[in-house]
Amino acid sequence: MNDRLKKYIHSRTTKIVLAIFVVMIILDLLFPLPNLKQYSKQILSSDGTLLTAYLTDDDKWRMRTNLDDVSPDLVKAIIEKEDSWFYWHIGVNPISLVRALYSNIVSGKRVSGASTISMQVVRLLEPKDRTYGNKILEIFRAIQLELHYSKKEILEMYLSLLPFGGNIEGVESASYIYFNKPPKQLSLAQAILLASIPNDPNSRRLDQNNSSVKTARDYWIDYFKENHTFTKVNLDDALDEPVEFNRYAVPVLAPHFSYFIKEHSNDDVVKTNLNLRIQKTAENLLFNHVQRVNPKGVTNGAVLIIDNKNSSVVGYCGSADFYDAVSSGQVNGVIAVRSPGSTLKAPLYAYAFDEGVLTPKSRLLDIPTDFHSYEPENYDLKFYGNVTAEFALRNSLNIPAVRLLQEISTTDFINLLEKSGFNEIADQKKRLGLSMILGGCGVTLEELTRMFTSFARDGELHPLAFTKDDLEDDSEIPVFSKASSYLIAQILSGFDRNDVVDISNYSQLPKFGWKTGTSYGRRDAWAIGFNPDYTIGVWMGNFDGKGSPYLSGAEIAVPLLFDLFNSIDYKPERKWFRKPDEIIKRQVCSESGMLPNKYCTKLVTDYAIKNTSNNLVCNVHQPVYVNLNGTVQYCTECLPSSGYKKVVYPVYDPELTVWLEQNNYNFKMPPSHDPQCQAKFTSDGPKILSPSEDYEYYLEENSEQEIMLLAASDSKAKYQYWYVNDKFYKRCNPGDKVFLKPDRDKLKITCLDDKGRDESVKIKIKYY
Ligand SMILES: [Zn+2]
Ligand SMILES: [Zn+2]
Repeated sequence: MNDRLKKYIHSRTTKIVLAIFVVMIILDLLFPLPNLKQYSKQILSSDGTLLTAYLTDDDKWRMRTNLDDVSPDLVKAIIEKEDSWFYWHIGVNPISLVRALYSNIVSGKRVSGASTISMQVVRLLEPKDRTYGNKILEIFRAIQLELHYSKKEILEMYLSLLPFGGNIEGVESASYIYFNKPPKQLSLAQAILLASIPNDPNSRRLDQNNSSVKTARDYWIDYFKENHTFTKVNLDDALDEPVEFNRYAVPVLAPHFSYFIKEHSNDDVVKTNLNLRIQKTAENLLFNHVQRVNPKGVTNGAVLIIDNKNSSVVGYCGSADFYDAVSSGQVNGVIAVRSPGSTLKAPLYAYAFDEGVLTPKSRLLDIPTDFHSYEPENYDLKFYGNVTAEFALRNSLNIPAVRLLQEISTTDFINLLEKSGFNEIADQKKRLGLSMILGGCGVTLEELTRMFTSFARDGELHPLAFTKDDLEDDSEIPVFSKASSYLIAQILSGFDRNDVVDISNYSQLPKFGWKTGTSYGRRDAWAIGFNPDYTIGVWMGNFDGKGSPYLSGAEIAVPLLFDLFNSIDYKPERKWFRKPDEIIKRQVCSESGMLPNKYCTKLVTDYAIKNTSNNLVCNVHQPVYVNLNGTVQYCTECLPSSGYKKVVYPVYDPELTVWLEQNNYNFKMPPSHDPQCQAKFTSDGPKILSPSEDYEYYLEENSEQEIMLLAASDSKAKYQYWYVNDKFYKRCNPGDKVFLKPDRDKLKITCLDDKGRDESVKIKIKYY
């Protein structure tokens, strides 16, 4: 052959190959592969166990089958039986095609066969009549399929689409429905049985007793024996295995969780982080607990368990019993919007620690307070007076929390909650007021539990990782400092409180911190706990919103929280958070919680946050000049040249002084000021406690209703003088209540003391 000819042939070949290639691309564009079929959505637990699956839109059990999840025997049997050259051909097998064509012509009728797995996949995707024309189309499609997908992908499509009778498609679905097990665990006999069904799926269904099933299986066992596909011993054993006819339901584990995932993920197979051991423990404990509290009018509950290592959701119970229609078991309590009771006090105090306004030993007032017509009370209807922040939080006192929220601003706190993913609060923020800290807002168990994970994760809020894919998301938001989170953990893990159970029943209880909540009307009982390992949220109540007189966070939710920690995080060592370097220990005045001045005598150790906590010095312990009997107080103006002494008194906030006196607390009060003193005081004048500024009173028309006037004064004041619209009304002793029957709709109320100091408020009166 001369060079020119060689060159000619060479360029010819190149042109032909190129032309075929171009034609293929054009055909591929003109006739794209049929759409893949919709698969049943499968939800898997953290160890790959099928939690549940859902019917496709065309009501099929068509679970996507992953090659790694199928018994190798089954794959081998199917390939050997259907297309032993599967891994070698390009979609069609020319040799068997020619052989089939030949026998078709010889026999004069259409003999099936010669279809490769790829061609069968095409047929499963796009069923067509068996004509020669369609056969050619099928060949084109099969090659096209091979160009678009790998052998593994094609095999997986095949395994997922094979018909198994009725609405069952794919070996995964068939394995669960016929054998109640994943396809990895099939015996050889079961694998061969399954492999034989698709040839005649409707007469070989395993949910209908049928002798042809065993005949077909045994035929293939013999076939594999002849072809030495499996060992003879194993095939002999397979032959002895009886055929069982069954139809099992597709598993339904963690139904609320699975449904939630189904609605939030687009994948066919969703690998979640749910830990089945923890889930089952939680389900049992919740179910039993609801049985226990049922006589108290509490019929349901929900539990959310988060692994603090990566904020993965490892336990999720939306209700006590999904199938209990009477108690609305299908309502998902994890995402239901409910009133949080007092649970938001924990983030409030954490925020206040970070704002520097508070340390654990800081003092807060727990005395009746009128917040613009809003007068909260404590859960036990008692007032505790002057309390430490840690006592107030641990015992969930209401007034200190409301006062604290007022001090740091409701708007700022709501912004923090909005940033932390509280959706209902964000939506309602314009309407929320101080009462939100006592439950006057809406939250979900999911939002609340996630918020508490930040205390266990150095103050960082991580999105909850429901699925394995979610674990890639590391978009955390810093909400609190490490130090503040540590302080909250310290306070909430203390046992000096009223919402605790008898722990002698628990031998290996881990250490954890917790906060309870009871909503208005006793409709919701909450207990949210956390430690280095887990954050657990418990809600108890009724889905119809009915309250129960027995319902409270302490009585109804806490016992379950303790059971959960005891069962799930059971371990002998009680590990705890490491104290951050930003936390400093310091001595403070035991009565004010502030840094001691030289007159403070009793000191206690407090924690503070370096460069954050305030450094206010005690203003309670002050030296006062008095006469030698200690009956008259002097100021610098009236201090005599002799006959006096300096005595240290506790000088409380006027509001607190009034309350302590009214409640007969025994405390050393400085004597009243020298009546002869002519000095006028400008600061520390009376503080009007009632009415509050801008308050609108609604009074019944023509009634004898009166409004109360009350003001606190410091110890220098001897009398208070009340003025209404600048006209003198009454004189009283400091702290006495005075009553007024208003005679017009706009009033200016002024309180003046005998030292000339005054305060005024303006109020409106409306009649109905
Ligand atoms: Zn002091
Ligand atoms: Zn004086």
